[in-house]
Amino acid sequence: MEAGSAETEQPLEMEVEEEEVAPIYKEPPKIKLLEESVVNRIAAGEVVQRPVSAVKELVENSLDADSTSISVVVKDGGLKLIQVSDDGHGIRYEDLPILCERHTTSKLSHFEDLQTIQSMGFRGEALASMTYVGHVTVTTIMKGQLHGYRATYRDGVMEQEPKPCAAVKGTQIMVENLFYNMIARRKTLQNSADDYPKIVDLLSRFAIHHINVSFSCRKHGAARADVHSVATSSRLDAIRSVYGVSVARNLIKIEAFDDESSSSVFKMEGFISNSNYIGKKITMVLFINNRLVECGALKRAVEIVYSATLPKASKPFIYMSIILPSEHVDVNVHPTKREVSLLHQEIIIEKIQSAVESRLRNSNECRTFQEQTVDASTSSLLATQKDSPKNRTPPSSQTPKSEKVPVHKMVRIDSLDPAGRLHAYLQATPSSQADKSSLASIRSAIRQRRNPRETADLTSVQELVNIIDSNYHSGLLDTIRNCTYIGMADEVFALIQHNTHLYLANVVNLSKELMYQQVLRRFAHFNAIQLSDPAPLADLLMLALKEEDLDAEGEENYDLKEKIAEMNIQLLKQKAEMLQEYFGIHIDTNGNLSRLPVILDQYTPDMDRVPEFVLCLGNDVDWDDEKICFQTIAAALGNFYAMHPPLLPNPSGEGLQFYKRRVSSNCHQAGGGSSKDADDAAVESEYDDELLADAENAWAHREWSIQHILFPSMRLFFKPLTSMASNGTFVASLEKLYKIFERC
Ligand code: ADP
Ligand code: MG
Repeated sequence: MEAGSAETEQPLEMEVEEEEVAPIYKEPPKIKLLEESVVNRIAAGEVVQRPVSAVKELVENSLDADSTSISVVVKDGGLKLIQVSDDGHGIRYEDLPILCERHTTSKLSHFEDLQTIQSMGFRGEALASMTYVGHVTVTTIMKGQLHGYRATYRDGVMEQEPKPCAAVKGTQIMVENLFYNMIARRKTLQNSADDYPKIVDLLSRFAIHHINVSFSCRKHGAARADVHSVATSSRLDAIRSVYGVSVARNLIKIEAFDDESSSSVFKMEGFISNSNYIGKKITMVLFINNRLVECGALKRAVEIVYSATLPKASKPFIYMSIILPSEHVDVNVHPTKREVSLLHQEIIIEKIQSAVESRLRNSNECRTFQEQTVDASTSSLLATQKDSPKNRTPPSSQTPKSEKVPVHKMVRIDSLDPAGRLHAYLQATPSSQADKSSLASIRSAIRQRRNPRETADLTSVQELVNIIDSNYHSGLLDTIRNCTYIGMADEVFALIQHNTHLYLANVVNLSKELMYQQVLRRFAHFNAIQLSDPAPLADLLMLALKEEDLDAEGEENYDLKEKIAEMNIQLLKQKAEMLQEYFGIHIDTNGNLSRLPVILDQYTPDMDRVPEFVLCLGNDVDWDDEKICFQTIAAALGNFYAMHPPLLPNPSGEGLQFYKRRVSSNCHQAGGGSSKDADDAAVESEYDDELLADAENAWAHREWSIQHILFPSMRLFFKPLTSMASNGTFVASLEKLYKIFERC
């Protein structure tokens, strides 16, 4: 507000304020006790939220009555009629008058009973609620009786004396005209897709858990039941009959338990889908102490494991039954009992998550994460050419071979002077550690996902994160979240499908930005990649400087480079504490680089790019302004960790030329180390097999990472920049697609 106008407006504002506080006397509204029928109807609306919630209550009552057969008939999505018949123990004649009054139950007497309650029901509210929002008729007969009784109820009250009637064993409860007196709800329900599919889904879930009970569910007047299960002793049979063969044949059994009374006590059994199961959405059927419940946290935890391990099958089918001491479960936390609260929920979830992860990894369908670390430490030009071949680890036989689209663009690199190859002393985390840390890092990923704010407390970092979170392109976000990865179209473009569209996505740009974003999100909370031997900054910097201008030779030039290197070393040593604390980049007092951060779980960057990165830290980071400093370091890390094409040309296309032996080097090698005679040398492969194997490894590994790490992680964490829609990161052009396929 401008100063002048403020002055003129001030008195006016004050007047208004005065007017507001001026006591225009208005009597406070009188508080009165609501009529019971109003109270009951309000409560009923909460317990019976929609037809499917009424069905759930009725089926649970039947289960509580020890039924072995339960059948459900539904008309008009449940609005016209819900009828649940069972063969349970029935209801006593003398209980019928109070059956549908609020808070009448046979299952609980004292509040403490809740601690050990085994039955589904306990509040004595369900039947009462139904009579407040619908017309209820109960027919029941107890064992040994000659005839049954039928009674009708409204607003909690039995309308007339129960009438004797013929009946088969058990109880049948009919709810008609649900929500007849709640116009708004009835209208919304009539407008929305009806509840019948939800009811079928509910019965399917019950049917695969309570396998000693047979269930059926049909539409009124329909000859065929939509759920039909017979009592069985095999869970898998039950799943097969309810969810079909395609689900049942792709399931693996899973178990987990904990009996440490100090932390959590539970036992979990279930079935989870394997990599062959491709679902449209995740199906999670969860029973806790035999109650059908939902648990968002557990569902997310399982989901993330699938995304990380089986991205193509990331919408799994899960059935789990968890049993824990009843005193560890609070069943009374939700009006429809849809959720329960567990003691030590976090620990239980983590244990189950580990069980799922190890089960998925062990199932032979699934590739293990170990490959990456093995891979990262083997492919090396330097090692190939300078080390004795015998000392080298053979390329992992597990390394996935991928079907590659030919590549036509060669990477230019000087094969005779592969400076910058560093595997000689850079080794990634030993695989045993990687195995343990992988789970820990998945967990930390989940924590971050749940609570991203916790990770950054410096405002400058928060500001940078806010920029990411507030400027993303929502269309691209949707594409990335829901796309299917098809394969690599060339060295930098992945082919992805979203709905009916094909796109080319530049994985270098995407991974660079993803890494940048993750550095900021994980700020100061990094796990470490330990280098087996600390690498002297001096060597790294000299390598990088040498690569920068290969032509300039000579003493003078060398001196200059040494000076530049020395200055950078001093600078980085000075900043070492900050680099370690905030970015997990560890430089020891002797000027050696010894640790790097884990930016994406399971992913190790290409160690050949370390020199470039170190030089970039020295040269490109602006150390003066805190925010810009963090931003530039994150960008340097992003560039280093990005999934660039490997430096070795791709051997599956024209790149193969690169691996042809040259005559001179052939002679030299044959005469050098081995005692092979000239004939042997002649029949020797015309390619440098080891180098070729390294290259194949490196490329296959990269593609594996793109498919199994990059895309799943992007689905979870990535916020695509608005600029990516127009800067060539995403290409939807058919022309470009055709060009690529023409070359194949
Ligand atoms: P709750 O299940 O919490 O006890 P309900 O209102 O659902 O409350 O049911 C009230 C009582 O009616 C139950 O405690 C039970 O004794 C009896 N009841 C309800 N449905 C059945 C049934 N299908 N078979 C036998 N008894 C039943
Ligand atoms: Mg009940």
